[in-house]
Amino acid sequence: MFEYAPAPESRDIVDIKPSYGLFIDGEFADAEHSFKTVNPATEEVLAEVSEAGAADVDRAVAAARRAYDMVWSKMAGGERAKYLFRIARLIQERSRELAVLESIDNGKPIRESRDVDLPLVAAHFFYYAGWADKLEYAVADPRPLGVAGQVIPWNFPLLMLAWKIAPALACGNTVVLKPAETTPLTALAFADICRQADLPPGVVNIITGAGQTGRALVEHDGVDKVAFTGSTDVGRQIARSVAGTPKRLTLELGGKAANVVFDDAPLDQAVEGIVNGIFFNQGHVCCAGSRLLVQESIAEELLDRLKTRMATLRVGDPLDKNTDIGAINSAAQLNKIRMLSDIGEQEGATRWSPPCELPDRGFWFAPTLFTDVAQSHRIAQDEIFGPVLSVLTFRTPQEAVEKANNTPYGLSAGVWTDKGSRILWMAQRLRAGVVWANTFNKFDPASPFGGYKESGFGREGGRHGLEAYLR
Ligand code: NAP
Ligand code: MG
Repeated sequence: MFEYAPAPESRDIVDIKPSYGLFIDGEFADAEHSFKTVNPATEEVLAEVSEAGAADVDRAVAAARRAYDMVWSKMAGGERAKYLFRIARLIQERSRELAVLESIDNGKPIRESRDVDLPLVAAHFFYYAGWADKLEYAVADPRPLGVAGQVIPWNFPLLMLAWKIAPALACGNTVVLKPAETTPLTALAFADICRQADLPPGVVNIITGAGQTGRALVEHDGVDKVAFTGSTDVGRQIARSVAGTPKRLTLELGGKAANVVFDDAPLDQAVEGIVNGIFFNQGHVCCAGSRLLVQESIAEELLDRLKTRMATLRVGDPLDKNTDIGAINSAAQLNKIRMLSDIGEQEGATRWSPPCELPDRGFWFAPTLFTDVAQSHRIAQDEIFGPVLSVLTFRTPQEAVEKANNTPYGLSAGVWTDKGSRILWMAQRLRAGVVWANTFNKFDPASPFGGYKESGFGREGGRHGLEAYLR
């Protein structure tokens, strides 16, 4: 191995303030309590952020209601579109700043925030801006729902915000959104973009805080629609609290995707797809290809090539443009990954990581591969949400389908084969909302995304994504 010279992206473009208020009714205002957000790559405290209490949630929902009744639901779709296009263009103009801020607050490599997250965020706003005056082509007699309470996780902070806010606004709803506790900064930068775009006050409200704030929001009587992305456990609690109320609900939850490689697959491409499937964004991806199912006859060769490729992955400074794997988002998430990996060893699986030096400070986990994995192992069943791949083998396509579907989740899957007929055969049998063929982790705003079983219900993206925000 040879050494690269570091190529760090400058963080001068970002102006992080010492403290941030809540964004309610077009104004930033401090709450009574606050919490700290940290750079997970250095453990440096970045800023003090307001924690919304019950009274703040009341104010935010009331502001969203006023904006809905008086302005946004009355506005012609073509006018709403102008605001969304303006927001999309401002995101593009400020994309370098937003990408650097995302990498600092979340720990993801700048290469990904710059080349994946930000282009998709802008694309999502452009896409739904285009729908705002064409809703009658999506559903008959389109009418908005009212105030949407939206709660999102930390793995794609700005992208999950875009998935939630763009379709809601396009359909004429107003929103109160709570970002995750560990990654509030890009949502607050987005609030600034709403002001820059002259979006009427109250149409978008951003309330920062932890789980309690999210709970107060989804349980609030003034909310007509709850949209949640996060863990299956919290999703279950929310489903319970919303049951029996008139609120509409969509849940985008966890996953444990199978990436299935047949013996006729192009192996080097498959290796790239496997690496992208599980090591992209440190494996903090709901649709990550965390279970590799490889046909027995090629398992040895594929694993040799995969290990060779894994040894070239560069773990370290998220702002370095050479970095492939950045920091784990929090100490708590690192502990969870360590705990599940230790259980993997205790249950008898074989653990392997390439030699790799990890920085002293911050939260890090080397890319990890488990072989000799049984379907009953926790590492084959539980969502690890980290850079950890479990490998299983199969002999026949039927066995591949059975193993792939043997999970409580049903979000995504990958199929690698030379035969088009086999791709279709597999896609018909895999219980997954998205099936990628000879690729993985590809996203497009026009394509609906969502799960089956314990991965949730409802779709985000595409024409289907509008239905979640229309009566
Ligand atoms: P999480 O713990 O469920 O948190 C998600 C969000 O809910 C956070 O903003 C969290 O606040 C908040 N929250 C926590 N408890 C709550 C409660 N009782 N009521 C309302 N809100 C509450 O999930 P996470 O660990 O952050 O995110 C990882 C999970 O998200 C994984 O399971 C992943 O698969 C899933 N995910 C799914 C998709 C998809 O599209 N299906 C996409 C991305 C991620 P705090 O974090 O501030 O405490
Ligand atoms: Mg942070």
